[in-house]
Amino acid sequence: MTVRSGGRPRLGIVDGVHVYLFADDLLSFIERGSLVPAREALAQGRRRLRARRKHGDVIPLKGARLLAPIPRPRKNIFCVGRNYAEHAREGGSPVPEVPVFFTKPPTCVVGPEAPIVHHAATRELDYEIELAVIIGKRGRNIPVERALSHVFGYTIMNDVTARDLQRRHQQWFKGKSLDTFAPMGPAVVHRSAIPNPQNLRLRMRVNGEVRQDASTASMVFSVERLIAALSAGMTLEPGDILATGTPEGVAMGRTPPEWLQVGDVVEAEIEGIGTLRNPVVAP
Ligand code: MG
Repeated sequence: MTVRSGGRPRLGIVDGVHVYLFADDLLSFIERGSLVPAREALAQGRRRLRARRKHGDVIPLKGARLLAPIPRPRKNIFCVGRNYAEHAREGGSPVPEVPVFFTKPPTCVVGPEAPIVHHAATRELDYEIELAVIIGKRGRNIPVERALSHVFGYTIMNDVTARDLQRRHQQWFKGKSLDTFAPMGPAVVHRSAIPNPQNLRLRMRVNGEVRQDASTASMVFSVERLIAALSAGMTLEPGDILATGTPEGVAMGRTPPEWLQVGDVVEAEIEGIGTLRNPVVAP
């Protein structure tokens, strides 16, 4: 988890009760390519807790101020449209035969509990729960069989979308890219804890009402196929983020559409990762 502690972002490993801070940021930790500092921080922190020794680098998870795992990605976030057949249908589109890639800029990213701004530029604000992949190892032309070894871990992204802008500008970029339109978190789970990313339940709630409830088993293109397709002739780097598409149940697909309103609270939950909660606020 990335938390704000002592007035700055810090990276910590979490055991469900405490956060054991050990580095400045996830990007440089991924680049160093070793989990040892995290494991050592956990072991040392637990020894200190047992000995009842106070230590500034061990903080309670409850009340910790969480940030997005990578608060400011170095590149645009890679995204995939129509990667669940039922969601393609609810949007009136055919199921694609190749992955539909687009991106969101780094300025979209916010963390858990941070407000999603209902910008005046849109009247059709929508949510999309997505499994997001954090790349751990550089590669180009990555074969399907080796794709998961290029993953560092997994988190949750809400691919917030202004449907009216998405339609009006034809390319999806504008409607997907307003400030606060990529809430991410609450944690990154290392790939060793999620050996099969195609078997995770995703649930999106708006004000407690379940709107999306599906499994990553229903993806049209699996995580490994997406990585293989995206990396064809194009280098993926440590810290790159790939959001893998959303299942059916978005506001656009309901009759009548139930757009997000100021005051709503959206909660995106993925089994084994956690819950990403954000309120919708006026600009
Ligand atoms: Mg999406």
